[in-house]
Amino acid sequence: IKIKITNIDIPVAFASAFEGEIIRRKDMQVEFDGSRVDCAELVHTCDASEVEDHKITVVGPEVDDMELGSKNSIAYVVKVAGKNMQPDFEPVIERKFHNYINCIEGVYHTGQRDMQRIRISKDAFAAGFKIKHIGEVLYTQVKNEFDAVVDKCEVTIYTDPAECTRIRHEVAIPIFEKRDDRLNTLTDESVDVYYSCILCQAFSPSHVCVVTPERLGLCGAVSWLDAKATHELDPNGPCQVITKERPIDENLGSYEDVDEAVKKLSQGALEHVTLYSIMQDPMTSCGCFECICGIEPFSNGVVIANREYAGMTPLGMTFSEMASMTGGGVQTPGFMGHGKHFISSKKFMKAEGGIERIVWMPKELKEFVAERLNNTAKELYGIENFTDMIGDETIATDPETLVGFLTEKGHPALALDPMM
Ligand code: SF4
Ligand code: ZN
Repeated sequence: IKIKITNIDIPVAFASAFEGEIIRRKDMQVEFDGSRVDCAELVHTCDASEVEDHKITVVGPEVDDMELGSKNSIAYVVKVAGKNMQPDFEPVIERKFHNYINCIEGVYHTGQRDMQRIRISKDAFAAGFKIKHIGEVLYTQVKNEFDAVVDKCEVTIYTDPAECTRIRHEVAIPIFEKRDDRLNTLTDESVDVYYSCILCQAFSPSHVCVVTPERLGLCGAVSWLDAKATHELDPNGPCQVITKERPIDENLGSYEDVDEAVKKLSQGALEHVTLYSIMQDPMTSCGCFECICGIEPFSNGVVIANREYAGMTPLGMTFSEMASMTGGGVQTPGFMGHGKHFISSKKFMKAEGGIERIVWMPKELKEFVAERLNNTAKELYGIENFTDMIGDETIATDPETLVGFLTEKGHPALALDPMM
C-alpha cells in the first residue's frame, strides 16, 4: 500500500505560490552556486537493499556553520529503488528538483545537473530552515509524484567541499556523460516514434514541441529519451507518442502523422509543422528557448543568439528583440527558438542546407558547441574547424564587417542560394 504524504516536515511554508520568489543578495543568508564551486544534483537507481526509505543524511556543515552571505558547495544524491524504476527516468525526476526546491518559502533554485544555484533567505534561516529540510522536501515530493516507480527513497546531501568535488567529478559527471552518449547514438531514422511536449501550453496555449532524437525540445531540457520516460511515467501527461509512418518530405522532415498530432494538440491552431526547416512551416516557439536563430540576408546565413548573451547581433537586434519576434506559440518563418544542443545536430535546418548556414554566434556559445559542431561539419562537408569561420561579437556586430570576415574565411554560406 502506498500512502501519499501531504505534510512536509519543514519550518517554512511549501507551495507553488513561492515558485516565482526571488531572493536578493541583501536578503540572503547563504547561497550555493554550481557555476563557481562544485555542486551536483543526482537521482541514482539502486537495488532495494541499498536504500533505507526516508533516511536523510547531511555530510558537512549545516547552514548555521556557514558564514552569512557566503557561497558554498552542495551536492545531493537521491537514491531510489522500485521494481518499475528505470535509469531512463532519473533525469525526469531530477528535472523536478527545480520545481520542488523553488516551492519552499524563502528558498530559490535555478539550473540543473552540476550547474544549480540555490539561495536560502535570512527569514527562512531565522525560521529554522536547514540543509536537511531540502532532503525532506526532495524525499516527500519524489515519493508523492513518482509513486508509480519509486518504492524507497533515501537522500544524502553533501556540503563538505571535498565531498562535493568527489560527487560532482567522480559520480555525477560520468553519469551525465553516459546519458548524453546514449542519446548521441540515436538518430531520427533509427527510432519508430517521436514525442510531443505541451508542458509550455500553460503560457503559450498553441505551442507544441515535437521532440526527436536529433532535435531536443527548445528549452534544452527535454531530450527524446526524457520525453519517452515522461510518457511512460505518465501516459496521459504532457508527452505523447507521435508515429512517423506517413512521411511527406524527408528533407523537410514533414509527416502526415506529425501534422495530425500538432493540429490536435494545438487545438487547431497549427496545420503543418516541419522538423528540419526554419522557412517552411517551422516549429513554433514558446518562451523558454535557449537560443534563437534568425536569417541574415547579406550572407545567406543565420545568426544564433543564446539567452545569456546581452549584446548586439549583426541582425541589429539583441536576443530579447529577436525573442519578441519569435515566441508565443506562433510560426515565424526565418526565426526559430531551439536548444543549444540542436546547433550541432545534422538535422539543424537541414532543409536549408544545414549547419553550414551558421555565420555568427556569441563567442561563449561558439566555444560551448565547438567540439560537437566541428565534428558535424567535418562529417557532413569535410570542413575542418568550422567554428573558425563563424563570426562572433569580437569580430563583428554589423552585417558589413561580418560579410568581410566570412569572405576572408571562405565561409560556405556565401556560395549557397539565398533563403528568401
Ligand atoms: Fe516541453 Fe518544449 Fe516546453 Fe521544453 S520548451 S518543456 S520541450 S514544450
Ligand atoms: Zn516553453
